[in-house]
Amino acid sequence: MRRDGAGAGPLAVILFGSPGSGKGTQSRFLVEMLGIPQISTGDMLRDHMRRGTGTGEAIADRMRAGSLVPDEMVNRLVSERIQLDDCQSGFILDGYPRTISQAAAMVDLLAGLGGEEVVIHLSVDYNVIMSRMAGRRVCLKCGTLYNAVTRPPRIAGVCDSDNAVLVIREDDREEVVSERLKQYEAQTKPLVEFFRESGKRLVEVNASVEQPEVICGRIRESLGSLPGAGVYSS
Ligand code: AMP
Repeated sequence: MRRDGAGAGPLAVILFGSPGSGKGTQSRFLVEMLGIPQISTGDMLRDHMRRGTGTGEAIADRMRAGSLVPDEMVNRLVSERIQLDDCQSGFILDGYPRTISQAAAMVDLLAGLGGEEVVIHLSVDYNVIMSRMAGRRVCLKCGTLYNAVTRPPRIAGVCDSDNAVLVIREDDREEVVSERLKQYEAQTKPLVEFFRESGKRLVEVNASVEQPEVICGRIRESLGSLPGAGVYSS
């Protein structure tokens, strides 16, 4: 994959939306479509917890409660990650930035690398989010997300790819979900205005009703119509 035309730096596709907006699923589609890696801060942080690193121990309580972890910590993780070779053309940010301070740090970092960003905001109605989160299951082995209604596995309770048993992610429990939604409203939603006001390319997608494949098609159209994006070739 190469990126033609635009400046020398990477293209950051920033995918953001509330918990249950389908960020994870759309990231995976975008990885295939654009051939650039997905960077999920949630996955990176869960990986630290699984491995029992110092970072993992420091964040465990906040993660379990559905609170955000400190900005400096995620900024550092993302900064280190996007400077690896596989991110030179671009990358998809799933779940980052989540605060104005993270967004400002990311814009500076990307400017330093000579890159640019496209922001995709997946908006979803509150009631839809709650019902989606209730049916959500994950494969702890490969990370694939399923949903009892919108994306059921072929065999109930079992991952299609590796037959591992599907579980409810600890932070998908109902009380934690409502805390995560509160955090989203207070800290992350204001990023729409932040990006709009700073003149970044912002694509608003209503992700409430249609199937993930249809929503992905609309993201593809929006990317294609933006200068500097949709310019990938193999
Ligand atoms: P996610 O899988 O993206 O929903 O993230 C799961 C949890 O990881 C969140 O509830 C936060 O505790 C933490 N987290 C993920 N990304 C960030 C971020 N950018 N800033 C702060 N905390 C984060």
